[in-house]
Amino acid sequence: MSNPKKKVTILVPAYNEQEALPLFYEVVAKLADEHSERYCWELLFINDGSTDGTLDVLNSLVAKDKRVRYIDLSRNFGKETAMLAGFDYATGDCVVIIDADLQEPPSAIPEMLKKWEQGYCDVYGRRRRRNQKFLKKTMSRIYQRLLSGMSQGPEPPQDAGDFRLLDRKCVDALKSLRETQRYTKGMYALVGFSKAPVDIDISRRVAGTTKWNMRKLLHLAADGIMSHSVVPLRLASYMGVIVSIIAFIYLLVVLVKAIFWGEDVAGYPTIVSLILFLGGFILLALGIIGEYLGRIFLETKQRPPYFVNTVTPVNEES
Ligand code: UDP
Ligand code: MG
Repeated sequence: MSNPKKKVTILVPAYNEQEALPLFYEVVAKLADEHSERYCWELLFINDGSTDGTLDVLNSLVAKDKRVRYIDLSRNFGKETAMLAGFDYATGDCVVIIDADLQEPPSAIPEMLKKWEQGYCDVYGRRRRRNQKFLKKTMSRIYQRLLSGMSQGPEPPQDAGDFRLLDRKCVDALKSLRETQRYTKGMYALVGFSKAPVDIDISRRVAGTTKWNMRKLLHLAADGIMSHSVVPLRLASYMGVIVSIIAFIYLLVVLVKAIFWGEDVAGYPTIVSLILFLGGFILLALGIIGEYLGRIFLETKQRPPYFVNTVTPVNEES
């Protein structure tokens, strides 16, 4: 007899989370126990090339709880790719993505499930209050505005992160987007399906430290813009047109002055500043083209986005 209960996969990317994982497991296992009447659960951890004891912790969790599975990636691929691996191996009728550090409240999951039962396919956690540093918060606000102004596809909702419940349909759609430079927050909007928010509070990490540094964040930000928008390329053409028009007007002014008033044309300073301005601008435009070209280069290789070391088997009766 097939299992009449719906299956919920909790997808947890984990990179060096040995301190946080036991605490995380306690909370989520308790939640799963409380809702075991209606749903069966799969706790799918993605070990993203951790260098600490994360894998040992996962092994001990697998040994004591049938619901726990993990994918051990061959090295650190970053959270975006780890999530893709999770989508590939998740077996649930819906998937809840959540960080291992308990910054996002698992207590919101029942409400998400309720919305899912009402027919929503993408129930996202909307952040009410963020305990973030001022600089990080401001920068992420500015970035979100910039991105939603530039992106070609539909706009991702403001203040939403990766903490969300996705219906199987969404997961399959996200799985089909195989690009290696991923910006999943843009993809949720891109694939569509009905969306509903659930308000959440983001708290501090329970243990361990954040895996993001400025370099990684800037990289993700660039991926977000360049993989969802060609506006920077267009910007270069716009600037080119504007500069040409100004140059043409200036040329006319100089010519008219020289012909009718016989004025000396001031040479050196004008030329130097023009050359510097145009040179700088051309380099900038080249750089933008290069960024896109580099991305095309990487994508055309069609390399698999990640490699797997081991996967624990699916537990049918869990
Ligand atoms: N993470 C990952 N691979 C990475 C970096 C982070 O799987 O290369 C995971 C990490 O273990 C955590 C989640 O992604 O579960 C969010 O990371 P973190 O809490 O460091 O980010 P923050 O909350 O500070 O933005
Ligand atoms: Mg975190």
